[in-house]
Amino acid sequence: MSKKLETKAGLDFVTDWAYAPSPEDTKHIKLEKQYDLFIDGKFVKPNSKKYFDTVNPATEQKIAEVAEADEKDVDKAVKAARKAFGKWSKTSAKERGKYIYRIARLMQERAREFSIIETMDGGKPIRESRDIDVPLAANHFFYNAGWADKLEYAFPNRNPQPLGVAGQIIPWNFPLLMAAWKIAPALATGNTVVIKPAETTPLTALKLAEVIRDSGLPDGVVNIITGAGKTGAAIVNHPDVNKIAFTGSTDVGKLIQKAIAGTDKKLTLELGGKAANIIFEDAPLDQAVEGIINGIFFNQGHVCCAGSRLFVQEGVADIVIRKLKDRMESLIVGDPLDKNTDIGAINSKEQLGKIQEYIKIGKNEGAEFHQSSCAIPGKGYFCRPTLFLNASQSHRIVQEEIFGPVLTVQTFRTIEEVIEKANNIPYGLSAGIWTDKGSKIFNLSGKMRAGVVWANTYNKFDPTSPFGGYKESGFGREGGLHGLLPYVKL
Ligand code: ADP
Repeated sequence: MSKKLETKAGLDFVTDWAYAPSPEDTKHIKLEKQYDLFIDGKFVKPNSKKYFDTVNPATEQKIAEVAEADEKDVDKAVKAARKAFGKWSKTSAKERGKYIYRIARLMQERAREFSIIETMDGGKPIRESRDIDVPLAANHFFYNAGWADKLEYAFPNRNPQPLGVAGQIIPWNFPLLMAAWKIAPALATGNTVVIKPAETTPLTALKLAEVIRDSGLPDGVVNIITGAGKTGAAIVNHPDVNKIAFTGSTDVGKLIQKAIAGTDKKLTLELGGKAANIIFEDAPLDQAVEGIINGIFFNQGHVCCAGSRLFVQEGVADIVIRKLKDRMESLIVGDPLDKNTDIGAINSKEQLGKIQEYIKIGKNEGAEFHQSSCAIPGKGYFCRPTLFLNASQSHRIVQEEIFGPVLTVQTFRTIEEVIEKANNIPYGLSAGIWTDKGSKIFNLSGKMRAGVVWANTYNKFDPTSPFGGYKESGFGREGGLHGLLPYVKL
């Protein structure tokens, strides 16, 4: 059932459409057959004249062709950003804020279009792009716009100055949201930007380019270029880039760290994770099980802070596992554009292959395999929600990031044991604790080596709250006041 969207101004409108788009609606989404690079305020052809396909992972159909930027295009984008930096860094802070507010409002006005395209290009359920990704992305612009003319309060007596040109590289799991996380603080602090979305999900960043152009932001302040790893590497290696902000895999993060060693480029890395989600015997169990489900199956488990390791205290293990299996049976896997869908499509064929490989590894390692019995579509890249029971600390499925809807389950007796096991991992991005006792939450959250610790909730994000990791999960924080720091000299 579809009715016309009434456009309302204001902060909260984006979450209030009462319906999901029908296939008919998606025909009205304005998508070009071919997308060029957004450099110096205009869409321009790539030097190589090469384009690559972006595919809908739920249908395996091509949506559009997208330009592949080579080193010359990257150089052009960096030059545009450098030229724009001269004026932008001297634009009054209040004026800078106005443009950022305008971008936020234009995103809200086009929220429906952004949500549908995000879901088509990346495979995530429309309920998530509509209620989380798109409103939160707009909120990051609102939040950072507010800081633009208050930097002297953010850093009292420190005279914060912009760094220059920021090179930003983002992944495919939250394409628009990651673009907002990166662009908004860079602009608020007076930097200019060259950003590259991931090759499987470039479309909402290119739509954002349209919004940026329509906002009247001066040419060259934000440049959005597309391509794969080679394009990303060209941004990292460009000598006139002052700061690199990267979100993606730990492997690529390490390559980037090596590539810029010895230069004076500043770096923030937000990398992988393998979070422990811990249920104590005294936890409200139904609420905890719901949190475990959300922790691992949100966005198909393509979440660096996903609660992918469940630790359940022995006394409640049987009941929790039974409840978990029952709840998994009720999850709907299927068409991401259907508002009833809980788990959408795996982002790419390659990622589905990686998840299937880990499922094989888990079975060979001897953990007990369980999948829900739900139907999945015949076409497209889908994976049923999966559990591995009786997993042990040395299993690869426990130690390595799978980035899919796969949860390992371990049991524990004492608090000391669970702290030891939860921390005994190369990553340190996030953790979850489920208990009725506030004292346990305080005790444990200080001992978890994780950048974010959620208590009796999970996967809650807010622009005011810093996010980032320890160990192989990277360094630097995004969001909140802390998120401004990587973009200023003090
Ligand atoms: P994933 O494994 O989750 O796909 P990646 O780390 O490979 O994540 O990709 C995240 C982003 O990094 C993407 O935009 C990708 O194009 C980019 N990228 C990949 N390889 C490199 C590289 N060597 N240098 C810079 N960016 C890269």
